[in-house]
Amino acid sequence: MSCKIEENIYKENCKSCKGKGYFQCFACSGCGSIRCSNCFGTGMEDDSYKKTMCNNCFGRGSIDCYICKSEGKEICKVCSGHGKL
Ligand SMILES: [Zn+2]
Ligand SMILES: [Zn+2]
Ligand SMILES: [Zn+2]
Repeated sequence: MSCKIEENIYKENCKSCKGKGYFQCFACSGCGSIRCSNCFGTGMEDDSYKKTMCNNCFGRGSIDCYICKSEGKEICKVCSGHGKL
């Protein structure tokens, strides 16, 4: 039975993230915010007779990306963000 410890061998770049350790967030394409789905990015809610500020995005038209917590990137689960395996 072989039990040699190979801690100092050259580590390969993670193929999943190409060695970066993270992916660009697919939900916000890396910008950290996504268009508000409640007002479709207008910041206003259309209320048949008058327009009101969208309660979901508070008039901004976009909300912080909840997928990446507005980081714009997602840590690679394969290498836990190290970029190497
Ligand atoms: Zn995102
Ligand atoms: Zn909105
Ligand atoms: Zn990776």
